[in-house]
Amino acid sequence: MADPRRALVLYSGGQDSTVCLAWALERYAHVETIGFDYRQRHAVELECRLDVRHALVAAFPRWAARLGQDHLLDLALLGRISDTALTDARAIEMSANGLPNTFVPARNLLFFTFAASVAHRRGLSVLVGGMCETDYSGYPDCRDNTLKALQVAISLGLDAPMTIETPLMWVDKAATWALADTLGGAAFVDLIVERTHSCYLGDRTRRHPWGRGCGACPACELRRAGYAQWQAARADR
Ligand code: ZN
Repeated sequence: MADPRRALVLYSGGQDSTVCLAWALERYAHVETIGFDYRQRHAVELECRLDVRHALVAAFPRWAARLGQDHLLDLALLGRISDTALTDARAIEMSANGLPNTFVPARNLLFFTFAASVAHRRGLSVLVGGMCETDYSGYPDCRDNTLKALQVAISLGLDAPMTIETPLMWVDKAATWALADTLGGAAFVDLIVERTHSCYLGDRTRRHPWGRGCGACPACELRRAGYAQWQAARADR
């Protein structure tokens, strides 16, 4: 029996949010997706979003029956107020405050708040995001307590219950691959490898065992290491 609540998944077309989408489709009777165009350098992920959705619908009829519409919000403003390597043509490096300069300040607070506004209008009461405290690159707005506080603020602000679910919060990248395998088996793992996008540089020309990307940026490195760990753990069994 599916949870009767209706969910909205923050969905970028990357590995983590695609696993979250499958997780939500297994649980909730109706699931919609939302993405944000903030003029990110890896805008290719916006093209991957719809490609992955189409592939999910084609390969998994039980998920297709629950998948509702997609929303794409134009947050060009966020790109303009951020001074980071994701939105400017600059090298990705650690800045003086110890955070990678890929950080768009408070990005997830803004994403969830915009998502909540759309969700409330659409009659959706669960927001699902792929934030993770295990290898969170130091982004303070990915922390469990940040998002729990935001859930309370949003629910009060809407005067309606809005639950924030983060199924990957305490899961590392290797376990994320394992969760994908549990949710949709080899077909879903192959779909993630072939179609989802993580690379900060937007490179899809190079194909590795773990997917497409430059192979050198922090996002590629996390994805590569997680995949290798998961493969090694499987080989040990
Ligand atoms: Zn990369």
